[in-house]
Amino acid sequence: MNCTDLLGQLTDYFDDKLSADLREEIRVHTAGCQHCRVVLNTTRQTIEVYKGTEIYEVSSELRERLHSAIMARCLDSKK
Ligand SMILES: [Zn+2]
Repeated sequence: MNCTDLLGQLTDYFDDKLSADLREEIRVHTAGCQHCRVVLNTTRQTIEVYKGTEIYEVSSELRERLHSAIMARCLDSKK
């Protein structure tokens, strides 16, 4: 799994729709990828905040912003 794969699975991950295998792949990837770990933690916190107000769907706009930010950083770190 790479960063793009992980981001593609993020919504299902938080909706608890992923297979055990995929969840494990995400766990392994985030263990070795600081950027994705940050995205995962940030998204989780965001969802928890929204859950408090009964609105917990991550907006596609937020997802887009996270996606762009993480991809920019991942590409940066490979230079
Ligand atoms: Zn990553």
